[in-house]
Amino acid sequence: MFEPTLAGSLPKPGWLAETHKLWPQWRSQGAELAAAKADATLLWLKLQEDAGLATVGDGEQSRQHFVHGFLEAVEGIDFANKVKMGIRNNRYDAMVPQVTGALRLKGRVHQTEARLARAHTSRRLKFTLPGPMTIVDTVADRFYGDKVRMAMAFADLLNQEARGLQDDGVDVIQFDEPAFNVFMDEVTDWGIEALHRATEGLTCTTAVHICYGYGIQANIDWKESLGQEWRQYEKIFPALAASRIDQVSLECAGSKVPIELMRLLKGKDVLVGVIDVASDTVETPEEVAETIGRALQHVPRERLFPCTNCGMAPMDPEVARRKLAALGEGARLARQRYGG
Ligand code: ZN
Repeated sequence: MFEPTLAGSLPKPGWLAETHKLWPQWRSQGAELAAAKADATLLWLKLQEDAGLATVGDGEQSRQHFVHGFLEAVEGIDFANKVKMGIRNNRYDAMVPQVTGALRLKGRVHQTEARLARAHTSRRLKFTLPGPMTIVDTVADRFYGDKVRMAMAFADLLNQEARGLQDDGVDVIQFDEPAFNVFMDEVTDWGIEALHRATEGLTCTTAVHICYGYGIQANIDWKESLGQEWRQYEKIFPALAASRIDQVSLECAGSKVPIELMRLLKGKDVLVGVIDVASDTVETPEEVAETIGRALQHVPRERLFPCTNCGMAPMDPEVARRKLAALGEGARLARQRYGG
């Protein structure tokens, strides 16, 4: 009960990449970089186990960014000529690569880190991939001329990689779709269909993560503009509840999401964000247990998995480590308190 897990990314150690950045530069290259990525992956696996997480991940230590890490393995994308584009409905500008031809995977994307992680942990292993809608919102299209058609093309590539990850021994495959909280109407129009295409034929657990973004200033400013109650989830959860996706990872701690909206996910596992990634203040186990207790009013205990609100990539590594520890401690406390 209340088995803790994480949304996905963890900060990279200073010897692997620049710290406190969403798009950090690597510190080395070639074989040296590959070795450093492996070391960082093993380090975070150990720290997640020490924190008591039941489902662990590679912390996305081998990818520069949660979307571009996947895109680097795709043929038909021009990374040499990035262009500035407003993303998430122009919330912020990013330098994005351009789609210039038919999309095809160059080969496996995350096999190395998935097999490494699988070989070194006996906990349940989760792997994250960017969702189709979020991908098409993070590249410039110079080829397809149709957002949905391009999303479906990406969904097919994601499915190919997801099947590979399943064969590598991954237990949970999660698609990150922060764009679902921005383009709510499109979620029902084609977003879920794209997710279904990406998860086609998988027998492992499938998940989707939908949040209000990393703790970067542009997101904090955006949240300020959303008013006293954030009701985006209300528009998309009913469609997710009717979908074939097993788990939904959502933001809760320190957010203005009305907690009762979790009720709209009836029949799904709910990965409840009990750790705020937009604040460096480390939650106490007491606070974590209290958030779990509030969520328990709306989610059956066997479906409630304490989690982080979002990835922690741009966070200070030591703060992230302490937040993971608080997550594990808080879940233990909640088991004592609400276990009976
Ligand atoms: Zn997120």
